[in-house]
Amino acid sequence: MSIDLRHQQYLDVMGIQRWVRRDLIVDDDETDSHDASVVNDAGNIPLLDWEALQAQVAGCTACDLHRTRTRTVFGVGNKQAEWLVIGEAPGAEEDRQGEPFVGRAGQLLNAMLLAIGLRREQVYIANILKCRPPNNRDPSPEEVACCEPYLKRQVALLKPKIILAVGRIAAQNLLKTDTRIGALRGKRYAYADTGIPVVVTYHPAYLLRSPKEKRKAWQDLLYAQKMLADEKQ
Ligand code: SF4
Repeated sequence: MSIDLRHQQYLDVMGIQRWVRRDLIVDDDETDSHDASVVNDAGNIPLLDWEALQAQVAGCTACDLHRTRTRTVFGVGNKQAEWLVIGEAPGAEEDRQGEPFVGRAGQLLNAMLLAIGLRREQVYIANILKCRPPNNRDPSPEEVACCEPYLKRQVALLKPKIILAVGRIAAQNLLKTDTRIGALRGKRYAYADTGIPVVVTYHPAYLLRSPKEKRKAWQDLLYAQKMLADEKQ
């Protein structure tokens, strides 16, 4: 099977037609406690290797989410990956399995990555939060702040060439903004003080609810792919 044909099949899974012109697409927005007595020993986190970091996350009780989680969801993938995909927080299935982006949204993410020639095993996938917020509510600013040192250390260890922020929560927290996701798409940002480029796209769970937006996600992925290629030149 040719690469083009394989990509087209994944695009078909995503419901994407390649010939859609960007100038015809409407830009709609995606519509979508910290227990102060316990700390996550953030001072040590910048020194931890992958194994020690994962162990620290597994035992973390720094915010109240540890009380309701089934297991922590550290992250998964290739530790030499150029691409780091960052989502919001574990959902019910992720909380059960301990892996980010599983279930239907995970399958769609896999299809999206394959559409630009990336297998899931070639990227690293993590979330803003390592524990599931009850009832899939939005993470609180306190929870994000509490968990942020873990993600920062993952980024420092991985040294990705590009970060794909998927969904409003991931994008807004990574970029420290409350700008709507529709306005964040299609631009180059940098992660914290690292200079690592960040590109924003929609969350696959949102795309499952709003399939017409898959075309925009396809454009975002192409944009990120081109940016990475340009960075390498
Ligand atoms: Fe610790 Fe993060 Fe889980 Fe809160 S969400 S308990 S900071 S690992």
